Amino acid sequence: MSSLFPTYARWGIEPEQAKGSWLISTEGKQYLDFTSGIAVLNLGHGHEKVKSAVANQLEKYWHVSNMFKSSAQERTAKVLTDVTGLGRVFFSNSGAEANEGAIKLARKATGKSKVVTCLQSFHGRTFATMAATGQEKVRVGFGEMLSTFDYVPYNDCEALAKAVDNETAAVMLEVVQGEGGIHVVEQAFLDAIKEQCEKHGALLIIDEIQTGIGRTGKPFAFQHFDVKPDIITAAKGLGNGLPIGAVIGKEELAEYFGPGSHGSTFGGNPVCIAAAEAVVNEIFTLEFLQETNEKAHYLMSELTKRLQGSKQVVEVRGLGMLIGIELTHEAQSTLEALQQGGLLVLTAGPNVLRLLPALTVSKEEIDLAVEKIGKVLSV
Ligand SMILES: *Cc1c(COP(=O)(O)O)cnc(C)c1O
Repeated sequence: MSSLFPTYARWGIEPEQAKGSWLISTEGKQYLDFTSGIAVLNLGHGHEKVKSAVANQLEKYWHVSNMFKSSAQERTAKVLTDVTGLGRVFFSNSGAEANEGAIKLARKATGKSKVVTCLQSFHGRTFATMAATGQEKVRVGFGEMLSTFDYVPYNDCEALAKAVDNETAAVMLEVVQGEGGIHVVEQAFLDAIKEQCEKHGALLIIDEIQTGIGRTGKPFAFQHFDVKPDIITAAKGLGNGLPIGAVIGKEELAEYFGPGSHGSTFGGNPVCIAAAEAVVNEIFTLEFLQETNEKAHYLMSELTKRLQGSKQVVEVRGLGMLIGIELTHEAQSTLEALQQGGLLVLTAGPNVLRLLPALTVSKEEIDLAVEKIGKVLSV
């Protein structure tokens, strides 16, 4: 009998060790890991620069509080604001907490409460972010939700125009819906959001928790589009496995997050910020992102080629290293067959396989993954 709440349908694999894109189980089986801790290990397992940054900080001290000055928080925030064109950062511990912070900030800055999100979105598991999430399955059984959220179908400009009004504090969305099935936003929808936000004095929050930190080949995925968010949220890949998130907002919002307005005991913890600083300095370089883009294109084109004509595949889609393979059937059995064959992948909704390789994956590892996927799906 387990002493844990059964909140996760766990796999029968326990890791013993992991390095780069590889994971070895306690049973000695080797897996090529295309899950990256759910878009967290963008630099792969055991990245030396992150490891030494964390080890150095552990030697000095590993926690104080946010009453103390932090040059590491300042430096990391500067990198995040420089790369996004925004002005200020608040560090949290997780994605949901970053979204909570963003929602609070938008409500305080606008003096309004309503937040419009999208169906099939995923924004987290706390009370506000669960209510923000446009998926019934996340909310079922938890009683009455916060009533200040309204939902529109993704990429539906007309529904958006109806939902946004003078009570709206913010529109919040992912530019690629991750958990919701790897759906990429349309520029027309972003244009409609801009128009509605301007018309009604609402802010635009882009949830970059899964798509950010180089995952799509740009520092943040919104940079593939013509759009100017007021606030973005990051987490997952930011600490490469150390728990840290961030609310990144435009300079004009600074006055609404004054002393005592918001906070977190652990947010931006010295060890986690050491990891985050190493991560952003490694990923946000032209060379790194260029290489990521090349490998992502390679993966996408090899996959598309290999799966051409497969009766099990509806579509291969995605952005950068965030790739979905929509199947004609439930994806779980395919996920298990791939596991058997030594490749770890995720699902995104019932029918979509989700590939999240480390951005440091090699072409040889991509070839191997495509071969394993092809074997299972090309029949
Ligand atoms: C994972 C995720 C979250 C929640 O992050 P947690 O760290 O699990 O709280 C929120 N939004 C998106 C888009 C995510 O992918």
